Amino acid sequence: MWESIARTGAWHGEIWNRRKNGEIYPELLTISAVQDDAGELQKYVATLTDITEQKAAAAEIEHLAFYDPLTNLPNRRLLKDRLALALASSKRNKQLGALMFMDLDNFKRLNDTLGHDMGDLLLQQVAGRLLSSLRASDTAARLGGDEFVVMLETLGENAEQATIHAEVVGKKILTALSEPYLLDGHDYRCTSSIGITLFDGYTVDEDSLLKHVDIAMYQAKQSGRNAMCFFDQAMQTVLLERATLEADLRLALEGEQFKLFYQMQVAQDGRIVGAEVLIRWQHPVQGLVTPITFIPLAEETGLILLVGQWALETACMQLKRWEGNPLTQDLQLALNVSARQLHHAGFVEQVRSVLKKTGIEPSRLKLELTESMVINDIKDAIIKMQALRDIGVRFSMDDFGTGYSSLTHLTQLPFDQLKIDHSFVHNIGVKQADAVIVQTIIAMANTLGMEVIAEGVETQAQRKFLALNGCKLYQGYLFSKPVPLVAFEAQLTQLLHLTKIN
Ligand code: C2E
Ligand code: CA
Ligand code: CA
Repeated sequence: MWESIARTGAWHGEIWNRRKNGEIYPELLTISAVQDDAGELQKYVATLTDITEQKAAAAEIEHLAFYDPLTNLPNRRLLKDRLALALASSKRNKQLGALMFMDLDNFKRLNDTLGHDMGDLLLQQVAGRLLSSLRASDTAARLGGDEFVVMLETLGENAEQATIHAEVVGKKILTALSEPYLLDGHDYRCTSSIGITLFDGYTVDEDSLLKHVDIAMYQAKQSGRNAMCFFDQAMQTVLLERATLEADLRLALEGEQFKLFYQMQVAQDGRIVGAEVLIRWQHPVQGLVTPITFIPLAEETGLILLVGQWALETACMQLKRWEGNPLTQDLQLALNVSARQLHHAGFVEQVRSVLKKTGIEPSRLKLELTESMVINDIKDAIIKMQALRDIGVRFSMDDFGTGYSSLTHLTQLPFDQLKIDHSFVHNIGVKQADAVIVQTIIAMANTLGMEVIAEGVETQAQRKFLALNGCKLYQGYLFSKPVPLVAFEAQLTQLLHLTKIN
């Protein structure tokens, strides 16, 4: 200070000063030397500013940038810094570490029912319990919402032992978090799900590690709650493949990669009464992809609305083409409708407008719905089914017997047909109980005045049993597999001795 004043005539800087009461505080001090006309040093002028509050504010800002204000745990940013350091040090000293990702089961429900203040209280208590389950050298962080991450370091060089160690800590955390909470007088219980992965500083970076534990956590949730799962490479591969398939699915519609296959439905005398249309995806690389893989994916992504629209239009256009020929004009097509389609607000209008556009006789279109999708929102289902039935569209209950619908439901719902699930048909002659179920379903359908069809009929024995018990319609490999349109028309020609279609 003196040197600067001697050289430049001034000094400016922060000093620690002491108040009269003895308290030490930070002060901003400026000292200037004042000279007289002759250039002789006359006096020093000092300006003092107490900067205690500024300092506190700056510290607060720094804290906010790196810590979660609610729980005081490190936030995502600081966690990533620490993780990067941990990876570097793990690489240096060959010590394995573990990363855990946890989230509370049903946290949203607590927020929705008891309010966000209660949610906040819970998060604070969770943070406390996490800290008390860890060593001082471990890190617990909150990423946001009800997502927490724990990082364990120096778990030794042996992967097996490190795994065991991490598992022990994981279990400890699961137990600690599942103890009862007292939230502002409310008793509350909750469980959590944990995803774990080991790290060694060589294999993956921070971002991938966080993705891995996220995947593992998701898997823990899937396997029931209050569970813990280690990251699994195979699982990641599956998820990656799914993501690729999803991207391809988006292109499939524009690329006209979907096709409808037709599986005949036959009457007792062998006459073809129509077909169930089953969608196929002609993937440019993977070949024919089964709907069992891509329909659920299309449902999740909402693409089913477009795919379903396409299937509906294609089926109706085909019915239109068949109208001209007396031998095909009575064929019915059964079309599978997915839950998301049915419960979409525009469903009735969608079907109506396609019927109008193609001008076909609505009773030749049969929509297949499963019990579970109808039961999920029975009011909505009844209203929509009724609206479409009023204009002549028919309904078949697919996979009948596998859901949970009661007789009450069944009589409320305007179905024209029950379709006995293939699993029961398969067990005819194999499992007596299932044969009895088949008999019961047929009897019930007859009593309720509904048509009944059996799917998955593969043997003559099954067909005989069904016929004997009063089921007059069949579908299954015994008659034909689902085939492309041309092949289906060939089957028609063969069976109906048609000379020409269209
Ligand atoms: P689903 O509606 O139960 O269709 C019957 C499935 O059983 C079809 O499988 C069919 O090929 C198969 N199958 C028919 N006869 C036999 C048989 O005798 N034995 C055996 N083991 N299987 C038989 P696919 O074509 O793979 O379709 C699977 C599921 O995909 C369908 O089950 C349906 O839920 C869904 N799906 C197919 N097309 C569409 C569609 O256009 N839209 C929607 N939303 N779902 C569709
Ligand atoms: Ca079906
Ligand atoms: Ca079925």
